[in-house]
Amino acid sequence: MKYDKKSVEDIDVHGKKVLVRCDFNVPQDETGKITNDKRIVASIPTIRYLLDHHAKVILCSHLGRPKGKFDLKYSLKPVAESLSKILGFTVKLAPDAIGEGAKNLAESLREGEAILLENVRFYPEEEANDPEFAKKLASLADIYVNDAFGTSHRAHASTAGVAAFLPAVCGYLIQKEITVMGSALENPKRPLVAILGGAKVSDKIGVINNLLEKCDTIIIGGGMGYTFLKALGKEIGKSLLEADKLDYARDMVKKASEKGVKFLLPKDSLAADSFAADSPFIATEDENIPADKMGLDIGPKTIEAYRNAIKGAGTVIWNGPMGVFEFDAFSMGTSAIAEAIVNEKGVISIIGGGDSVSAVKKLGYSDRMTHISTGGGASLEFLEGIELPGIACLLDK
Ligand code: AMP
Repeated sequence: MKYDKKSVEDIDVHGKKVLVRCDFNVPQDETGKITNDKRIVASIPTIRYLLDHHAKVILCSHLGRPKGKFDLKYSLKPVAESLSKILGFTVKLAPDAIGEGAKNLAESLREGEAILLENVRFYPEEEANDPEFAKKLASLADIYVNDAFGTSHRAHASTAGVAAFLPAVCGYLIQKEITVMGSALENPKRPLVAILGGAKVSDKIGVINNLLEKCDTIIIGGGMGYTFLKALGKEIGKSLLEADKLDYARDMVKKASEKGVKFLLPKDSLAADSFAADSPFIATEDENIPADKMGLDIGPKTIEAYRNAIKGAGTVIWNGPMGVFEFDAFSMGTSAIAEAIVNEKGVISIIGGGDSVSAVKKLGYSDRMTHISTGGGASLEFLEGIELPGIACLLDK
């Protein structure tokens, strides 16, 4: 996939109606009140740029899973209110996304004004990427901007389909994702170190396969580390094991060695009696875990080895925690790795989505990373080297 895509700055938006696909899928409480407006705030730079450059802005997004029909619970009304407050003028909410209501509001737009279409997932055609639906959505505008990275791995009508009918560019959020992560994958500042953790090997196979071709070092932690250790003949007690991935794990270790990629596995663990925050635990002597215990975090020797492996890195890509960071007693490994990264001068640090993002935020390191990817599934597919439809459909530079 090409990562060099045209952005809002590469197209003349003056006086044009611009359809912007945002990610306004915000968390809400039971009354519908938005409990965290970060995604709305994050979308403002692109919207502001368009308004300042005399565009007529038509915003759209999904919210929740309304299953293809109108459901007040998933209305974007609270988002329109929040946007109005932030932007300082009323952002009208259209009663639909492709009907007369949307058309009339879009027609009445003046330069420097914005409206919000109602939830695109009120239509089953959205997720089906129905070309007729995409065409109707596109007919509201002259230009399409995608700024919803979190849904860019989905080929839906509003995330990709509309690009067949309009000149399509990215907004600032997607631009940052593809610039930082794209160059880390295509032309990284070396050495490139990947840190992979989390629960399961099976979730990360695509990522491991792709990164093995590009990295100088791969560091493995978290629950998935135990399948690798077992594959190498170590005792792993009651730790997480994916027995059907043992051959794969052995192959990867072999492949890494053939390619000259350093492939680091835990040297010791914090091994607990049970999967519980207050479980008694020991630090093991070596890789082996007693039969009645389970590894819930990397141990002190591993932390030391991983710190050394991060030293001197040009780029670090991190996906997946080193242990069960949700329990304080088993968050030390993840915390120590985060600290090692932020203390590394000049390193480009990329947190590749999902649980590692929550871990880095929970442990207080998020402001000190170069880039925290905003997508879960999208980031993972990006790291797997898979073409993301919401990005592939945009104009190349
Ligand atoms: P993932 O979504 O695949 O990145 O996995 C994240 C989850 O893996 C987190 O909820 C962690 O608690 C869990 N995890 C990390 N290390 C372990 C471990 N050693 N045993 C069990 N679960 C783990």
